[in-house]
Amino acid sequence: MGTGRSKADRGQFGGIGGSRLTQIADLDHSPTLQKALDKEEKRTRDFKREQMTILDENGNVLLHRQGGSGHVTYKISEARDYFDGATITHNHPHGDERGGVSATFSTADVETFRYGLKEMRASGAEGTYVLRNKNWNNKDTKAYEFWQAYETFTNSQDFSSIKNIKSAQEKAHKSKIGKQYDAEIKKAGELWNKGLKDEATKIFGNAEKNLKPQYKKEIQKILYEDMNAKTSGWLKQNANKYGFEYRLTR
Ligand SMILES: [Zn+2]
Repeated sequence: MGTGRSKADRGQFGGIGGSRLTQIADLDHSPTLQKALDKEEKRTRDFKREQMTILDENGNVLLHRQGGSGHVTYKISEARDYFDGATITHNHPHGDERGGVSATFSTADVETFRYGLKEMRASGAEGTYVLRNKNWNNKDTKAYEFWQAYETFTNSQDFSSIKNIKSAQEKAHKSKIGKQYDAEIKKAGELWNKGLKDEATKIFGNAEKNLKPQYKKEIQKILYEDMNAKTSGWLKQNANKYGFEYRLTR
């Protein structure tokens, strides 16, 4: 999630990036906040649309909102009213178009710390990613610098470059589903060449209908996992430098 640079008074946050972070125990919260987070994250982690919930340290819900498949928006006035010292949890959808990967925080998610947020959480297929500003309430906060550095890093990467897509296609090609798809297409071609056109058409049709969607999902999975390994890796490596804690919990 984040604040709007393109639209004057609105912000949004979405998900980018699978992770090689090991899953470890959650951070210390008040029992009521932990209970509220567990409940909300269990409820929304597989939703197809993003759900944002802002909670205070006692687990009281300050604001809840539903967004789209890749973002949820908030008003700057809401950020000013509710973010200070709060914990925000939201889900990162992980449908086939993302290869089943829900991924770590976007730059827009990290931007929210500018408004005094204490903790940001994103739940999904891998678990719940957690980012906490240890200096959220004091002058040592480096929330702005952290966000800027993450922006600089992600802008320096071209995750959907032709090169990355080609590499993902090549990997998917060598995967189990890729080999299966290729074998069926090849079989159809051979039958066609022998004049067995009806059978060839049937095999080709089945491969296109049943195997191709899985094959495409595999390509997306490879792309998203690669992106998440890089973005999550950056957060893991740099969070501490800026006074943040970063982790993946169940
Ligand atoms: Zn997000």
